[in-house]
Amino acid sequence: MRYPDSTGIRRHSCSMKTIENIKAIIHLREDRDNPVVGRFRGLTGKEIAECGDEAAVASAVGSLKSRGIGSKEVVILKKFMGRMFQKCPGSPGMICCNYRLMNTGFNCLYDCTYCFLNSYLNSFGIIQFINTETMFREIEESMLADRETICRIGTGEFTDSLMFDEVTGIAASLIRKASRYGNLFLELKTKSNNIRHLLDIREKGNAVLAWTLNTRRNIELYEAGTAPLEERIEAAAAACRAGFLTAFHFDPIILSNGWTGDYLDIVDRLFSRVDPGRVAWISMGCFRYRRGFKEIIRTAFPGQKITTAEMFPGPDAKYRYLKKMRADAYRSILGRIRSYTDRPFVYLCMETAEMWRSVFSREYRESSDLERDFNRHIKNYS
Ligand code: SF4
Repeated sequence: MRYPDSTGIRRHSCSMKTIENIKAIIHLREDRDNPVVGRFRGLTGKEIAECGDEAAVASAVGSLKSRGIGSKEVVILKKFMGRMFQKCPGSPGMICCNYRLMNTGFNCLYDCTYCFLNSYLNSFGIIQFINTETMFREIEESMLADRETICRIGTGEFTDSLMFDEVTGIAASLIRKASRYGNLFLELKTKSNNIRHLLDIREKGNAVLAWTLNTRRNIELYEAGTAPLEERIEAAAAACRAGFLTAFHFDPIILSNGWTGDYLDIVDRLFSRVDPGRVAWISMGCFRYRRGFKEIIRTAFPGQKITTAEMFPGPDAKYRYLKKMRADAYRSILGRIRSYTDRPFVYLCMETAEMWRSVFSREYRESSDLERDFNRHIKNYS
């Protein structure tokens, strides 16, 4: 099998971006007394634009742009008026785990080449929602009338859950509130190592600190600004020692020459540092993209090779590697995980029923079949 050759592609420096990379904060005057706004205003060395209305926000954005300040150097603090909590839309024709999503913000400090947020070409700034009380109220209203059914909720769909969480304070607040419900698993997913501010929380409940893992080479090539692999694993080890559940996501798996050894090496490193008994779940998903996204990546990241692999549209019209290549990758990684532990629930993200049969010998006709198995498995943790 031939894979794209990654020699000659520019690798990123391995230092993780932090709140220090933010140059300007924008918010509405009416939100001045909001606690999240207060914490951002208390940061030193940031330009603060306090605006009377949305037109003034647009004008502040224009002024920053004209001075060459980039989209990922600006945080715009605002209330979110839509639904913050919803079921993951999944993908047509694919088996999904029926995860619930909590929107805490939009856009990200990091610069992953494959990130679907790159499709939002006209959006500027990292939008941080500040009505944090609404976030948990919506969870309670929607899900927790039923105290028996397991509920998995994550915050990292349109942003990184923890990139500057030490400032927002959102994770700590959600973890404490979620700890009142034994059937609620709150997942905070990150590519950072930014968890020190969470370790001393006593009311951990079923909070799950989760890391997306990739090979060193893929992190250097395609995940600019994120923490190196070793730092993610060390952070996970610290989270386990502090008493948190953890989870890991091999997603997107990006195939290149030597991928097998590189991905299996991650599993070895992971279980040399992390207690398998504290790992609640592990997902696997190969790189995939929607029609038209390849062109966006090629324009935004000239010279990248991620889009040069042969990929084909599936039932949901997303492009993926050939079935055999995906199945080989999933089976290899699954086999290595199982050589260490049977404890975590291991699952595929956005794959077909046929792929489930081929990798796990499991017959899932619909997403609720996977959700039922998943919840039955993790019930033992609560
Ligand atoms: S960390 Fe996640 S949200 Fe942030 S750029 Fe990467 S893929 Fe996108």
